[in-house]
This record gives sequence, C-alpha cells and structure tokens, in this order.
Amino acid sequence: MTPFECASRMEYICQALAQQGLGPLQPPLVFPRKHVEKIHTKGYLEFLDTCWHDWQAEGNKGEAMPTVWPSRSMPSNIIPTHIDGKLGYYALAGETAIAKNTAAAAWLSSDIALTAADAIVQGEASAFALSRPPGHHASADQYGGYCFINNASVASQYLLDHGFNKVALMDVDFHHGNGTQTIFYGRKDVYFSSIHGDPMAAFPHFLGHAEETGHGEGKGYNLNHPLPKGTGYEMWSEKLLLSLQTFQQYGADVLVVSLGLDTFENDPISFFKIKTDEYLQMGKTLASLGLPTLFILEGGYAVADIGHNTANVLQGFLSHSQN
Ligand SMILES: [Zn+2]
Repeated sequence: MTPFECASRMEYICQALAQQGLGPLQPPLVFPRKHVEKIHTKGYLEFLDTCWHDWQAEGNKGEAMPTVWPSRSMPSNIIPTHIDGKLGYYALAGETAIAKNTAAAAWLSSDIALTAADAIVQGEASAFALSRPPGHHASADQYGGYCFINNASVASQYLLDHGFNKVALMDVDFHHGNGTQTIFYGRKDVYFSSIHGDPMAAFPHFLGHAEETGHGEGKGYNLNHPLPKGTGYEMWSEKLLLSLQTFQQYGADVLVVSLGLDTFENDPISFFKIKTDEYLQMGKTLASLGLPTLFILEGGYAVADIGHNTANVLQGFLSHSQN
C-alpha cells in the first residue's frame, strides 16, 4: 500500500508559504550526531543505519517491514541478531517501511529541526522546521507511524542545552505523540501536552489516555486530551487553552509545537473536523503565550490542503505576535 506520508506534502507546503509571503526558506545545517544520541539509544540508531543493508543481505526484495514482535505472550528484551527479529524489536507498528534512503531522510529531517531550533537559540522569535519524515511517534528505541527520529524531542533537548530551562511541548497532531511522551515521561524540564483522537479509537491505540500524567520527577508534567470522533475547533481549542494555561503556570521559557495538520476535516485517516480558516485562530492562540516558538512539522495527509492549513497556522501566529 502506498503510504499516506509522501513527498508531495512538502511541495504543497512550499507553494502555500510562498503564496502567503511566508519565509524565506533556508537550507538545513549539518549537526553532529550527538544531539540525536541524547534522545535515541545507540543500538536503535545503529539499527536504523544498517537495516537496509541487513535486509538486502538476506536476499529480501522490496522494502523492509516487520512481521513478528516481542508481543504480550513473549515479552523478550533480548535483541535478536537476524534482521527479521531486529525489525520486530525496533518497530512499534507495522505500517512503516524502511527503504534505501530512509535513514538518510530521517537524519536530514532531524538536521532541519535542529537548524530551526538553532535559529531560536540565535534570537529568532519563531521558526518553522519543514521536517519530513515526521518524528513524534518515534520513541528512544522504536520507530513507527512514519516516524524514525523524534525531531521535536531532539530540538527540545537542543534548546535546553543552549540556554532555555523549561520547554513547553505542545503536540497538535491528530495522533497522540506517544514517542515524545515516553521520552520525557520521567522528566520535568519538558512539559508535554497533546490533543488527539482518543486512543481507544485511533492510532497509536496503546498510549495517550488522560490518566497518563508522568512518573517520578516527571509526575504532573504530562497532559493528554483525548477527544472523540467529530471533534470540531470549538471543543479542540478549549483543550488548547487549558494546555497553554498549564504551560504558563509551569513557567515555560520556550514553546515547541509538534505541528500535525491531520486534525483537518477532510484528512483521510483522522476524525477531527477543523476547517482551513480555523488554523489561523490556532496560530493566534499559540502566539498568545508570548514565548519564542519553534514549529516542527508532523503529520497531515489531506495533501492538497496541507499547504494552506500549515501556512494559516503560521500566518495566524505571526499576525498575533506582531501586534
Ligand atoms: Zn498524525
């Protein structure tokens, strides 16, 4: 099956940004691997870099996909040496294929996020990382949901390492940011909040409930808002305001937005009903926090509409933050 996450998404966004006078677009810088190694395990990154080679060496044709997992009745932590076992160990879902250039694209995507994070460090009030593949489903040692390197987490860590003290990480993608949640679940220097389709009915199904509030030092620094099918902007934005109030009380000094556009009413794999014009309001509301803000692209699969929906969030944000 052709994946919903595809390259033409970028073309539509670039066109819409140009049409709405947003930009300029800048090419990414190259960052040392150490920034990504702070978020992902060494073993996982080695797997990502060698997967395609190992898959081919076994004589497989086509893209690498897992077929077996350490599931509930065989919950092993022993990492197999065979590529089929490694795929099952490092994959959290089965829809995401690995092909020849997957690892290179994932690293480039994290460089794009780091380039935008660095712009914030250099004093820009806001920046948008046009990152692909997305990142928020990737955990410290698992890929899935079209995500390999967790760009928002890597960027948040970079901000913490360069002068910021408290990151508010707002995930507005339709799907719960399970990877980001697990990465920061035991920490209080990143406050993670997500508004998403109830996992009882939506991917990733096994994380994203309201009861998940963090553990250890991170207890009380994780806020989930699972919402039902048909949720429109009015109900959605009430939850956004709650999250922003929480960030204010927390004393965040920088905002990172995992910007998924699959909350759109015509998205083919989601069930919220946000309209194109309402993305302007979403941007304005995010700007009301008055913090340096880093937007990082996540999902959004109504390809022909993703450009204007993305540009509207940024336009709304800029119109409010400049007033
Ligand atoms: Zn999504």
